[in-house]
Amino acid sequence: ATPAALAASAGRLAKHGILMTRGHVLETLPAVTDVVFDKTGTLTRAAFRVTEILRCATADPAALHIAKLLERHSEHPIARAITAMPLEPGSAELHCRERRNHIGCGVSATVSVNGRESVWALGRADFVAQWAGALPDEWRTLAAQHGTLVFLGNEQGFHAALVLEDQIREDAAAVLAQLHEQGLRTHLLSGDREAVVAAAARHTGIVRYRADAAPEDKLHYVRHLQQQGCRVLMLGDGINDAPVLAGADVSAAVAGSADVARDGADVLLLQDDLSLLPQLLAQARRTQTVIR
Ligand code: ADP
Ligand code: MG
Repeated sequence: ATPAALAASAGRLAKHGILMTRGHVLETLPAVTDVVFDKTGTLTRAAFRVTEILRCATADPAALHIAKLLERHSEHPIARAITAMPLEPGSAELHCRERRNHIGCGVSATVSVNGRESVWALGRADFVAQWAGALPDEWRTLAAQHGTLVFLGNEQGFHAALVLEDQIREDAAAVLAQLHEQGLRTHLLSGDREAVVAAAARHTGIVRYRADAAPEDKLHYVRHLQQQGCRVLMLGDGINDAPVLAGADVSAAVAGSADVARDGADVLLLQDDLSLLPQLLAQARRTQTVIR
């Protein structure tokens, strides 16, 4: 390999907003067989909107204020949507301590509501169920709906459910088609539910997907591909994805990613534009041809 050819190639890519943080990237990329996408923030814009709010008959009147309080220090895009919900000022006195982020699941904290303390959780149904017990019967049909679902509960049970909608990037389907033309297999991994992930896969032409995937499931998925001899490029935004990004042969972080991803990623896509990805792969292949 001539260092001059690699440097020229890296310079050309940098002009397009593709930055390589490690020397091996251009040489590893032509061997990549599989591109794995994270959903939220990578294939989608991570611009969630709360589209529906459901409350149990027995819900705490302060439920939605508690939800906002729980999300106050989370950097998850769902947290941004929930803290932005317009609410009438509540009359309850709320205090919060021991706030915890549960990666790929949600948030929890000990909240005092008018002096009465209990542990509250907000996130996936199975996560909140650890405190709140079984999901109310009237909410079982929610699973058939589209939209990301987030639940609020404490040891008294479930209090509220929020439906959120994200937007798939407009260029995603075209970019996926280009990657398929380049002979690459594509995969979608997400901690979100089946209905939402299946719809995103269908919309973008990705055949292989995994829903309800915890961060360690995502890593296992990539390792399994590698054991079969595949070389994996993983694209993520780094919120909950740092381990799987680190496990891929090449990792790329999209514009607007969390700091953890930007620190760990081999490639940074500086423009908010997924079409940089097929460009990068094509350029790496051309550079290899020149070198040989
Ligand atoms: P993805 O794999 O699509 O990037 P995550 O792994 O970040 O999704 O999250 C998986 C699921 O966990 C979300 O769909 C949501 O139900 C729940 N979740 C994670 N973080 C939060 C949070 N801060 N607040 C509420 N729910 C959350
Ligand atoms: Mg994510």
